[in-house]
Amino acid sequence: MTLTADQTAAVLQRPLAGRVAIVTGSTSGIGLGIAESLAGQGADIILNGFGDPAEIERTRDTLASLHGVQVAYSPADLSMPEKIAEMAAFARDVLGPIDILVNNAGIQHVAPIAEFPTAKWDAILAVNLSSAFHAIKAVLPEMVERGYGRIVNIASAHGLVASPFKSAYVAAKHGVLGLTKTIALETARQGVTCNAICPGYVWTPLVEKQIADQAKAHNLTAEQVITDVLLTAQPNRKFATVEEIGALTAFLCSEHGASITGAALPVDGGWTAH
Ligand code: NAD
Repeated sequence: MTLTADQTAAVLQRPLAGRVAIVTGSTSGIGLGIAESLAGQGADIILNGFGDPAEIERTRDTLASLHGVQVAYSPADLSMPEKIAEMAAFARDVLGPIDILVNNAGIQHVAPIAEFPTAKWDAILAVNLSSAFHAIKAVLPEMVERGYGRIVNIASAHGLVASPFKSAYVAAKHGVLGLTKTIALETARQGVTCNAICPGYVWTPLVEKQIADQAKAHNLTAEQVITDVLLTAQPNRKFATVEEIGALTAFLCSEHGASITGAALPVDGGWTAH
């Protein structure tokens, strides 16, 4: 098919036009930043995650009108495999076959292993790791059938290195990297890529909660937790931004990302260069 000059310009400006993307955990933080980046490149979006229904509807409406794309919302609880299958079916029904899957939803709990609640371990493994497996399984056949797919798993610097008191989170994120590499190998000749992004600290509600918890636990000010606890690991001493993670995700999803697969890409100000 030959494109007209206008069509070529439109594709270049909005390289993901006509693509359908599911972004899990996109009612907040990094997921929302990714949804904004993908919508800005022309992709139709399935939002997912928890939150105030009126606020989610406002987000949905703003994304759609600002970027001229379709945006729908799935309230699926990703700790439940059957809800993940329902989310994929809903996406297909309202927007069409899924081209892009961003596994971003995640939760955290910080405690020494002896005190780590078993229910928290189970929940973190379910949301941060198993949900990616179930979602990939639900959408991969249609990607392979159509010869195009982009899977981006939001892991963490904690997928590459550990910190004390985060046993479940670190185990789940290391698992995400293993899953990423395996899917990349299985799909390498099928037009599908699967990569992981490994952010260091990014300023989001998840981190704000950690700052508040640590300040309380160690009798520190929020400022002290930021400079003396969190950002000591990050050599550039700056939080990464949701816009940076969104832009990298959009690049991986573009045609120019076609040869990048099975990678774990740190966005961590040098943390994992240690
Ligand atoms: P956040 O708390 O702002 O957002 C998490 C999102 O996941 C929300 O939309 C929430 O509703 C959703 N969610 C949680 N449990 C869910 C469930 N059971 N079903 C469906 N949705 C659920 O957190 P964030 O900081 O934006 O984190 C997003 C991802 O980035 C996570 O996987 C996190 O581990 C990872 N990450 C964050 C940082 C950081 O510094 N913020 C660093 C590295 C990795």
